[in-house]
Amino acid sequence: MPEAKEFTSEVKPTWCPGCGNYGMAEALRRALAEMGWEKRAFAMVWGIGCHGNGADFYDVQGIHALHGRSLPAASALRLTRPDLDVIVEMGDGDGYGLGMGHFVHTLRRNPSLTILAHNNQVYGLTAGQASPTTDHLSPSVSTPDGVLEEPVNPIGLALAEGATFVARGFAGDIPHLTRLYVDALSHDGLSLVDVFQPCVTWNHHNTFQWFRDRVYRLDETDWNESDRVRAFELSLTTFHDLTCAPETCRVPIGVYYRSSGVPTYEAGVRASANPGWERARQPRDISAILRSLA
Ligand code: SF4
Repeated sequence: MPEAKEFTSEVKPTWCPGCGNYGMAEALRRALAEMGWEKRAFAMVWGIGCHGNGADFYDVQGIHALHGRSLPAASALRLTRPDLDVIVEMGDGDGYGLGMGHFVHTLRRNPSLTILAHNNQVYGLTAGQASPTTDHLSPSVSTPDGVLEEPVNPIGLALAEGATFVARGFAGDIPHLTRLYVDALSHDGLSLVDVFQPCVTWNHHNTFQWFRDRVYRLDETDWNESDRVRAFELSLTTFHDLTCAPETCRVPIGVYYRSSGVPTYEAGVRASANPGWERARQPRDISAILRSLA
């Protein structure tokens, strides 16, 4: 069984010192070791962004996909290589901006993918523009007077679209994040872990200390992980904004919701008596169509 350090490549990370990506990477390596996964038993897929540079920093097999396109690549991999577990890493701009359509449609299919979202609430790699999850009224290099839109709510969206495992983590609490990852990797169906991952270079509002003053753990409350309606309510009422004070603005981390026994997309495809790719293999006579166009 590989140890956590064996998932580290020889390439020195180029992430800024203190970036939340380090905490996420360490938690994932520990979780993989705890799962006992051999390197050839799984694959990772990355989108584009600072998180995507992680493709060079892990010693694993996988695909570094196009911007916002990690989910279709991962879904295709899952369908064509059912022997592999598939982990997707995407950013908030990457997955909730350019890839938003893919995100919503992947959620409703329930493929067996583990999605780890690096949510730093800013476009870090391209120098600090506002992202889909930037707090309302936050100034950024692209919005010097503040963002006018309300941020995307990935937890609420995932719950609304039927995701079967929805969690939120914080890169500053590696042991807790490792536990969330192990739970997500063990889940049969789609699992989303949206992780607040402070960008120390461009987001000077949502810092590690800002989160430390506000996060609390759901597993230390009377939380019921099978109550989807309550989870949805929580996702709506715990949105933070630029001005929220620590005593009134709390940020829950942990498993919001999980359900088991929901059929996966790949199981449905395999059970189909006449799958699309089988139909596509059959020779077809299209001469009548061509004549009609002449
Ligand atoms: Fe991390 Fe931000 Fe630096 Fe990117 S720009 S590596 S997200 S601190």
